[in-house]
Amino acid sequence: MFGLSEVFRVPPGVVQATVGDLQTHFGRLLIGQEITHPERLWQHLWDALMHTNRRGWEIIILGALDVAIWDIYGQMLKQPVWRLLGGAQRGPFQSTVDAAVEVVPYCTLVSDVWGGEQIFSQQVARAETLASLGYRAFKVEPMMSAPKDVVELARRCRQAIGDELTLMVDVGYLFNDVPAAVRVCRELEEQNIYFFETPFPVDTPEPYAKLAAKTSIPLAMGEHGVTRWEFLDMMDRGGVTVVQPYMTTCGGLTEAKRIVELAAPRGAQVCPGNWSTQILGAASVHLAAYSPVTPFIEFAPAEVFESPLRRELQNAGFPVRNGAILLPETPGIGYHLPAEIVEKFRI
Ligand SMILES: [Mg+2]
Repeated sequence: MFGLSEVFRVPPGVVQATVGDLQTHFGRLLIGQEITHPERLWQHLWDALMHTNRRGWEIIILGALDVAIWDIYGQMLKQPVWRLLGGAQRGPFQSTVDAAVEVVPYCTLVSDVWGGEQIFSQQVARAETLASLGYRAFKVEPMMSAPKDVVELARRCRQAIGDELTLMVDVGYLFNDVPAAVRVCRELEEQNIYFFETPFPVDTPEPYAKLAAKTSIPLAMGEHGVTRWEFLDMMDRGGVTVVQPYMTTCGGLTEAKRIVELAAPRGAQVCPGNWSTQILGAASVHLAAYSPVTPFIEFAPAEVFESPLRRELQNAGFPVRNGAILLPETPGIGYHLPAEIVEKFRI
């Protein structure tokens, strides 16, 4: 029995040096351990970081290990992970009468180029393609753009997808000053924007709080948020009401579940980030299935991003039908990596 996970943006040599064998920091702590509830093993690894490396690559690797441990734990108990997290927790008044619990991906729309007319035409075309395939929510990414272009991209995308579908905006840490961001949000409000992502640098709750007080658009952040403590800070001091833990970077599924428990009583939502592949995306599906405050998970659809590896990994994952993913019933995380894919893309 083995558990599958994905480490993203950590050099392979660092991963090897951290978990490779009995001589490594995590290898020494995990090899030979009985697999019991993942939270126990999470704590075992976390405690060992106290005097060494409490953030950065090591917590991403801890998070990836945690996902793999959940995968094994679910297989041992023959249950999908979302059920072991606590089941699909929805109160009788929080969903419409007939609504089945399903997980809805939102499509992140990046460009091959940035700036000028090309960013508009490319992202809008991708939104149109994906909307025609049944996807329901879209996030435009006016990175490195002038304020007027942020507004223009959102306007064109809204016009293209119509009023019914969901539109988000991610400006990728674009602003240094609050007034500029306030002016942009005022104009974006006309486009019915579901959330406005990362206007300011990651470690600065104060400008987030000042902007949150002046706009009706929910502020989102968290792709680089590490441990529940950073999320707590951004919710309580930053006024952030959409948090976006990455299933590895935040510290794993165990830590993401704790973030859900912190967000719910604050009236905040949890929309997990994932712009890597659907191996890690599968872990987000389980969190969303469990979480009563997760309307969307991030998804970078292979249909519009040319990559043979991305496409084959997505095809092997949970199917998206009518823009939604049904709760998986396979034990563990339930992602089965076909041997042919490993063979074909091995480097
Ligand atoms: Mg982003």
